[in-house]
Amino acid sequence: MTTSSQTPFPHATVTGLPRIGPRRELKRALEALWAGTIDESEYAEAAHSLRLSSYDRQRDLGLVADYAIPGDFSAYDQVLDAALAAGLVGEDTTGTDLGEYFALARGTVDRAPLEMTKWFDTNYHYLVPEVVDDRPFTARPQRILELVDEARQAGHTIRPVLLGPVTLLALSKPAEGAGRQPLDRLDELVDTYAELLTALHAAGVEWVQLDEPTLVTDLDAVSDEELAQRAGQAHARLLATADRPQVLITAPYGSLRAGLDALLGAGPEALGVDLSAATRTIDPEWLGRLKAADFGGTRLVAGVIDGRNIWAADLEAELAVLTSLQSGGREVSVSTSTSLLHVPYTVSAEKRLPVDVAGWLSFAEEKVTEVEALAAALDAHGEGAADPVSVREAAFSRSARAVRTRAESDRVVDEQVRARVAAIGERRTRVGSVEERREAQESLGLPLLPTTTIGSFPQTPEVRQARAALRGGRISEDEYTETMRAEIAQVVKLQEELGFDVIVHGEPERNDMVQYFAENLAGFAVTDHGWVQSYGSRCTRPPILFGDVHRPEPITVPWSTYAASLTDKPVKGMLTGPVTILSWSFVRDDVPLSTVAEQIGLALSDEVAELESAGVRIIQIDEPALRELLPLRADNRADYIAWAVDAFRLSSISVDPGTQIHTHLCYSEFGQVIAAIDALDADVTSIEAARSRMELLASLDPEEFDRSVGPGVYDIHSPRVPTVEELTGLLEAAITHVPRESLWVNPDCGLKTRKYEEVRPALANLVEARNEVRAKLTV
Ligand code: GLN
Ligand code: ZN
Repeated sequence: MTTSSQTPFPHATVTGLPRIGPRRELKRALEALWAGTIDESEYAEAAHSLRLSSYDRQRDLGLVADYAIPGDFSAYDQVLDAALAAGLVGEDTTGTDLGEYFALARGTVDRAPLEMTKWFDTNYHYLVPEVVDDRPFTARPQRILELVDEARQAGHTIRPVLLGPVTLLALSKPAEGAGRQPLDRLDELVDTYAELLTALHAAGVEWVQLDEPTLVTDLDAVSDEELAQRAGQAHARLLATADRPQVLITAPYGSLRAGLDALLGAGPEALGVDLSAATRTIDPEWLGRLKAADFGGTRLVAGVIDGRNIWAADLEAELAVLTSLQSGGREVSVSTSTSLLHVPYTVSAEKRLPVDVAGWLSFAEEKVTEVEALAAALDAHGEGAADPVSVREAAFSRSARAVRTRAESDRVVDEQVRARVAAIGERRTRVGSVEERREAQESLGLPLLPTTTIGSFPQTPEVRQARAALRGGRISEDEYTETMRAEIAQVVKLQEELGFDVIVHGEPERNDMVQYFAENLAGFAVTDHGWVQSYGSRCTRPPILFGDVHRPEPITVPWSTYAASLTDKPVKGMLTGPVTILSWSFVRDDVPLSTVAEQIGLALSDEVAELESAGVRIIQIDEPALRELLPLRADNRADYIAWAVDAFRLSSISVDPGTQIHTHLCYSEFGQVIAAIDALDADVTSIEAARSRMELLASLDPEEFDRSVGPGVYDIHSPRVPTVEELTGLLEAAITHVPRESLWVNPDCGLKTRKYEEVRPALANLVEARNEVRAKLTV
């Protein structure tokens, strides 16, 4: 059991770090390993030096106390890591075999990967462990012990981070054919976690972090009270383990409700809470409940620095919050609300941001400095940073300047935008009923089982090089346009040859579906190095939405009309929807999200109107992030859905009944948001489905959802080429749920990240499967 002679919890810490590398070193190493250009030992060496330089950097930034630096490295995903550490998945006995690890994550020729889905209300994706009924859990602490040991040899005492047992099971799903719900095996998993803790204790580890974000969410299956009670009991039992390290339990991504007393009742040595409201919905009484709660011997690790957004903190305001929490003798440490996984490394790497905007921002490194400065201000003794007073003063004065100049800036408010928004009025309904629109759209002449793609085609090296050359000033705007047009022509030709019915231009001109619009809309700034991990080796570079939004000139119209000039088939115009643009950007926190969404919806409606008058009669407005922003608490959802739906509808409000509006969504838990998807009022919805074995079909009750729908049958997140039989099987499954005249045939998502070697045969198989099913339907 723990004794008072053990190392106390650091006064300043962060609950997690970016891990892809300041120059995406991990991405490069992983992709080289997968491509076979480096071997496992070269990969291991790259990952090793990335970890050590990260620890060194954190120490230089001030995280000098033992256990202040989180040991949260993951080669792909922290949920997979925990599932392996507890023996939920994976066949090798140590859980450290890299071949097995990446087979689970990415699949192999003859093995499908684990399903991937979004992590809470973020744009990070985790792998969903599949729990087999009779398979016992087993503790495999080796990987964590190796990380601890590696750090120790380099002079760092890190705090291992592991997903907590409640969250691990809540995020898992029963394997095919399993009868039990994973959460029903919580007692058994606690025993396995106890073994993991014992092993860490034996290795001399004094602090461990267990993340339990599930406790800030409302689950469908269990009430908040029941979940809290089960979590409280589980942790009480885990903490009764005889020889264990001290435990920090964290609850990031929102506020605890019943979970607060339940976790405190279990008596961990420290409890980390999310205190960053920012633009997210943290309920207002949260701080009050926290102040009133009985912490007993538990240290409060106050996550006041926002781990998810990039605005410089108002340190004076945060200090006041911290001081109020400290009253009554409560022990308080300063931390981040969530892992810093969701923000880029450092603002100092950005050379092209407007200087005033750059001054308003804090990325991961600046946030570590903010945490340090707050802890030093809160605790006169500090944590032994080299020069706490001057560091603190510099941080506080940067913060004060950011707060003041942002509030005063005339870059932020655009009166014309505000006036246009004010003039919109209440109407959010398209002209024509669903029936009238169906009839009007018959003139598009689409066959049974219309077949299309989600928009992007593989981004070839030539396309990427042309974009880089344009940015570097090595080619002219005209040369760039020529390269893109050549690419569009090839993509159109390929689709015609393969037998697609609705043609796309392939989106070669887009580096990223959100960044591209951000670059072409007023109110956004874009970064050069602001990469954030999305899943595995994949990163996105979220733009920074700092001011009022409008569309100065046409964005997609020239590309779409060029594609239309090359074919007789209908061409689908491609836009990114307001909720997705907002969701995949770092969004201003000075006006409500609903206001931002409305401004973007209005800007997009200008583009939609112009596409339509240029003759583009099918327009897809992608909203893959609609589900992701859904509040984690049920009582906040109706409000969100109302403004999200309004913003989407605003973008297509003016179109003629004969113009077909599509949307695309990237997740399979259709059920929770089916009413919202219906309310979007799109004529056709394509949705991700392949990786979850088309589980969404069950929720496609025609009573509730009578639109046309394209459940994705080709999983584009895996390099695997699906066979014709497989695809035929999926389409036949779909036809039993969806009326034949409403079924579309398409992949899961855009093809941008894949290679033509994979895409060509996969799309050929898709069309062949479509032909087989179509033939059977028409006999
Ligand atoms: N139209 C986009 C594409 O195909 C959609 C991507 C997405 O849903 N994430 O790339
Ligand atoms: Zn998608």
